[in-house]
Amino acid sequence: PTRLEDLVALFDVRHTDTPTPDAERAEALRAPKFGTAFTDHMARISWTSTDGWKDRRIEKYGPLQLDPATAVLHYAQEIFEGLKAYKHSDGSVWTFRPDRNAARFARSAHRLALPALSVDDFIGSLAALVRTDIAWVPDGEDSSLYLRPFMYASEAFLGVRPALEVEYLVIASPVGPYFSGGVRPVSIYVSEEYHRAGPPGGTGDAKFGGNYAASLLPQREAQEQGFDQVCFLDAATSTYLEELGGMNVFLVMDDGTLHTPELGSILEGITRASVLQLAADRGYQVVERRIPLAEVVSGLESGTVKEFFACGTAAVVTPVGRLAGATFDHEINGGEPGELTMAIRQELTDIQYGRAEDRHSWMRRL
Ligand code: PMP
Repeated sequence: PTRLEDLVALFDVRHTDTPTPDAERAEALRAPKFGTAFTDHMARISWTSTDGWKDRRIEKYGPLQLDPATAVLHYAQEIFEGLKAYKHSDGSVWTFRPDRNAARFARSAHRLALPALSVDDFIGSLAALVRTDIAWVPDGEDSSLYLRPFMYASEAFLGVRPALEVEYLVIASPVGPYFSGGVRPVSIYVSEEYHRAGPPGGTGDAKFGGNYAASLLPQREAQEQGFDQVCFLDAATSTYLEELGGMNVFLVMDDGTLHTPELGSILEGITRASVLQLAADRGYQVVERRIPLAEVVSGLESGTVKEFFACGTAAVVTPVGRLAGATFDHEINGGEPGELTMAIRQELTDIQYGRAEDRHSWMRRL
């Protein structure tokens, strides 16, 4: 395997001449709000159809200048990733299964007719940026540096075809605990009216910006009704549970099995894959299958569904305390966090923050 040092050395580090003053950075790190403050630098690699990937660099964080005809502004040829850098008690900084994000990024790129970025360049860019902006990694409890790699069609051309010029960047934002004041169960509205990404063959299994654009209206309507999140159903039949706008979902049944929607038209969450492993390690039978909404609703009525949780990088494992739709409204586990939900959440965060043994070798030091 290629040494991380060698991957990082491919990046030309051009330091900003206007770094954020220490006091200002300390303030930004004290109570970071998701996605509002950014570090001093960004990683960048450019691609052209003739030269491939070139000009690996770390440069000053700042605005991009885009020609009004830039393809991404018209046809949304864009993908992204999301993962976190965690500081351990000895000061070392780690990411969680970044090879999985790299692989998913390559799959998303394929679906959006964007060029594949190698796993080496993906991980090298993360390490080069985090090492440059190491002072921006928070060390507060449940705090981390959120990393946002993304790739877009940068060619100025209005023809509808894959762009011949593409930019890849990584930006980073310090984040605090998702729930200030402790984990709180969220409420979910199941949308039988809107879909976010289409059936298999659509874009649901890609981390494509357009999927998120399509989720904004249903999300806003649900919030206006007092719900935290929307759960989407399969786009072909509106029958089966799929996922939230940014999280996968799990059911814990009274027979001690865990169920989650099968892959196909949903995003293959890295937290989802890790929860499946941790639950299996605990001796639970885990089942990936099509889960009819009607079965969940009747299971909540009869009590066969004991816990319901959502999972993703941002909020790790989040209990769901209420599930409602056009014709039903159920409290789950008395509106309290489920026992297994919280145990898996604890175990996962303990691994990520270096408080528990990393028995599956999921952590990668940057
Ligand atoms: N589904 C969607 C639609 C998402 O945006 C995310 C966040 N990436 C997830 C699931 C969870 O994926 P992960 O566990 O890799 O963060």
